[in-house]
Amino acid sequence: MKDAVFKQPTETVKISESLPEGEEEPPGRCADQIPLPLAAPAAETPENVFQLFPTRHRGFPIHPRARALQRKFFPGVTAKLWNDWHWQTSHRIRSAAQLGAMLQLCADERQALERGQGALPLGITPYYMSLLDPVDPLQPLRRSVVPSCAEFILGAGEAADPLGEEEQSPVPGLVHRYPDRVLLLVHDFCSTYCRYCTRSRVVGHGTLQPTRARLEQALDYIRRTPAVRDVLISGGDPLMLSDERLEWLLAGLRRIPHVEIVRIGTKVPAVLPQRVTPALVRRLRRYHPLWMSLHFTHPDECTPEAHRACAMLADAGIPLGSQTVLLKGVNDTVATMRALMHGLLRMRVRPYYLYQCDPISGSAHFRTPVATGLDIIRGLRGFTSGYAVPTYVVDAPGGGGKIPLMPDYTAGRDGDDLLLRNYAGGCYRYPDGQGAAPVDCV
Ligand code: SF4
Repeated sequence: MKDAVFKQPTETVKISESLPEGEEEPPGRCADQIPLPLAAPAAETPENVFQLFPTRHRGFPIHPRARALQRKFFPGVTAKLWNDWHWQTSHRIRSAAQLGAMLQLCADERQALERGQGALPLGITPYYMSLLDPVDPLQPLRRSVVPSCAEFILGAGEAADPLGEEEQSPVPGLVHRYPDRVLLLVHDFCSTYCRYCTRSRVVGHGTLQPTRARLEQALDYIRRTPAVRDVLISGGDPLMLSDERLEWLLAGLRRIPHVEIVRIGTKVPAVLPQRVTPALVRRLRRYHPLWMSLHFTHPDECTPEAHRACAMLADAGIPLGSQTVLLKGVNDTVATMRALMHGLLRMRVRPYYLYQCDPISGSAHFRTPVATGLDIIRGLRGFTSGYAVPTYVVDAPGGGGKIPLMPDYTAGRDGDDLLLRNYAGGCYRYPDGQGAAPVDCV
């Protein structure tokens, strides 16, 4: 096997000695040996993946593609070990050599891997690897996690921090943009790195550590700011902290009387569903009202494993919402987005936001025109359940916050009547005057 081409980032997750000890943190080791590439699995459609494995199953499920990849590349690994999130994390695919052994790389991917100095490191869990097409570089999930040369091109209007988070950060790792809520970035570690990540300037670089000093500083700011009633914990992926360390943070937030709700933003159910263990869920449910924003990108991520993880969280009374980034060549059609939204609802996840892709450096190949997003919303609204229609937003560059965008369903006025067009193109009137003149009672 060739030497790793990618620079291995510093990803050790440390915390001060006064925090609970004893649980292993996400290790950054690579899998040792990888045998020959896997033959292409049978084609699956987004809609049939649920039929591939029964949803009722003893133990954590392993869908057939994952089972095939496990047998081919990790032959001695038992199902129990495969479903251990520590094992998955420590055997992430981190190098060009590993990736090249498992995928038939195209010239562009190979070249990007050889350059190796992009904003984001490479990291893919073996589980998520099993969802990638080993042959087709244009497969949506593969595009979203495998580097390409386009990442190295800085497009017009692109920046490392287009949302201006650094300027709205009163203490390191805490963003206070809106009046009543804050974003707390706990660390910069993710099990799998998305090539379109808004925080590519931070994630995977080992510079944002969950040290007690920094987190205490953030808690202190929240304590001193009574207007903050909602804290979103994000990163990096907060669920990559150990149970104890996550609980320490949640307990600290819960001790602040004016913090009404806590939200966790995570991609774990999509990329490492094995992380959702009974022990984790038992701890999380102590801190209600606790909400979760899950990051799903494509219907192929709605596997039996993801289904199980979401079911465990939902059964613990955690309301689940999804956030999806609109990505060119990944999910930019009505059919794909509808399949994703339906898959999420089946997993008891309410589609929450559809994000216009932020103009981070090297993102032009992922960004669609805004018109594409509006067309997708137009293709969903009325044609499927209202619960399946997320709010389409642009996060305004420069720190303006989320701005919702909607197709225009108004068609003008006729006197007091507002003219409206419904989802199917039909025209309707709504009496929108000052109301009828009062009639005197006699
Ligand atoms: S999981 Fe979230 S924070 Fe991590 S790389 Fe993907 S988009 Fe970025």
